[in-house]
Amino acid sequence: MAKDPIVKLDLFINGGDVPTGSYFEVRDPGRFSEVVATVAAGSAGNVHDAALAAHAAFQTWKNTPVRERVQRITAAAAELEKQSAELAATLVKEQGMLLRETARDVANGIKSLREAALLAEPFLQAEEFEDEDSWVRVEKVARGVVAAIVPWNAPMGLTLGKVGPALLTGNTLVVKPSPFAPVAISQALKTVAAFFPPGAINVVHGEGEVGPALTHHPLVRKISFTGGTQTGRAVMAAAAQTIKNIALELGGNDPAIVLDDVVPADVVPELMKGIFPRSGQVCYAIKRVYVPAKMYDKFYDSLCQAVAEFKVGYGLDARATLAPLNNRNQFNFIKGLIDRTRQSGAIVRELGQKLDPDNWHNGYYVLPAVVRDVPPSAELVVSEQFGPVIPLIPYQSEEQVLQMANDTEYGLASSIWGRDFERAARLAGRIEAGITFINSHARTALGERHMPFGGVKQSGIGRVRTTVGLAEYIEYHAISLNRKTLPPLQTGKS
Ligand code: NDP
Repeated sequence: MAKDPIVKLDLFINGGDVPTGSYFEVRDPGRFSEVVATVAAGSAGNVHDAALAAHAAFQTWKNTPVRERVQRITAAAAELEKQSAELAATLVKEQGMLLRETARDVANGIKSLREAALLAEPFLQAEEFEDEDSWVRVEKVARGVVAAIVPWNAPMGLTLGKVGPALLTGNTLVVKPSPFAPVAISQALKTVAAFFPPGAINVVHGEGEVGPALTHHPLVRKISFTGGTQTGRAVMAAAAQTIKNIALELGGNDPAIVLDDVVPADVVPELMKGIFPRSGQVCYAIKRVYVPAKMYDKFYDSLCQAVAEFKVGYGLDARATLAPLNNRNQFNFIKGLIDRTRQSGAIVRELGQKLDPDNWHNGYYVLPAVVRDVPPSAELVVSEQFGPVIPLIPYQSEEQVLQMANDTEYGLASSIWGRDFERAARLAGRIEAGITFINSHARTALGERHMPFGGVKQSGIGRVRTTVGLAEYIEYHAISLNRKTLPPLQTGKS
């Protein structure tokens, strides 16, 4: 079979491709002997050029009528949709996930543009108040240049989820994709950029230098960052230098609490959808499962039985149900975590089938693992594994499980699984998290429309989606007139 050509990716600044002096390689995580792309490594100078271009574009874009912004985003979403199959296939090769997972990421990105477009016009209406003495108008105005810094695990949904709201509210952007998944998102951003004035969307790739250059740049007024909590701290510290507004979507250690009124086999299939999507590399995947002590053995057997069904293989192999990990750090971390957990005395069962054993060492493949008899203080329980290894922890009482679930500096999502809905809802209200699902670990259709997404504690600051997400990109400008001070001008109108 002929190999795909290697993509050469430049920076994209002020509507044009910008080559640089050095290019880094992107390799296929499922076949890392294959180079997928060579990507221009940007510098602080490139970041400066991009910020200047975005700032210049902002001067006119902020005054564009909202209706026109909505039309442009809607047209861009339609164009992206035509490219979705190609984008999803490209994403598999650079990012490693299953084709159905990358297709969903592309679809999520397009959907986020459309959802934000539907909300923008009513949301951006100014509010006015008056009495006989005065008049007050509260306007929602754009902030300026937004730095969008994104990770590799869901680049389309996460990036377009920033681009839509930022442009619709009148801002312009400099985007920094992850070096582990820069290709499909860059193609998508160039497609979207064609519907906007030059400089409205700029893309600067790079490793190491680009992120900090953006977070320190004085023309950047807002940083919308998604990534690890440790990086989030560095972003926040950098933002403090010029008092930038920040939104941080960080890591999570999501607990799932199974209540004692369920039958394990009824819960496990849906629970699996919350644990293993993108091989566990999802910020709000279930990271620890709490099970009543009296059903612990049964639940463990049921979960192991289901996990044993996974077929681990290449993302474009239609037989595969679990894909490789994305990068070497991730791979080494998960392998080490499994070893350390085993050495601590816990029982670790690596399950599933290797689809293509000859290719196993040509990718970041790991078998999914279920872990039992692990102390609540173990590394696997207290830290974010971001991989297909799941600990089961027994509990004795509601109070105990709530204490264990909340005993973390993270607070992204969480879920409760039970048949007594009132009890589940009552417990949900006591979990320290931005989101709590009941009897799933994903949004329903209603939730898609109405649930702001984000974390509490060290899982982040701010929310995405809904009008709460749009509000991240605006400032309030409050204008007030005192009618009594000066006599009004006579305009000639009666
Ligand atoms: P990282 O935090 O390592 O990187 C995220 C982005 O930040 C990359 O583009 C990276 O680029 C950049 N970056 C790194 N250092 C800095 C810095 N000092 N200043 C500015 N930018 C910087 O995360 P990963 O890409 O490894 O993604 C995994 C993490 O993301 C997980 O912890 C996961 O939980 C979290 N995440 C959170 C989500 C949420 O919604 N809460 C959603 C998805 C992921 P470079 O490496 O080139 O510097």
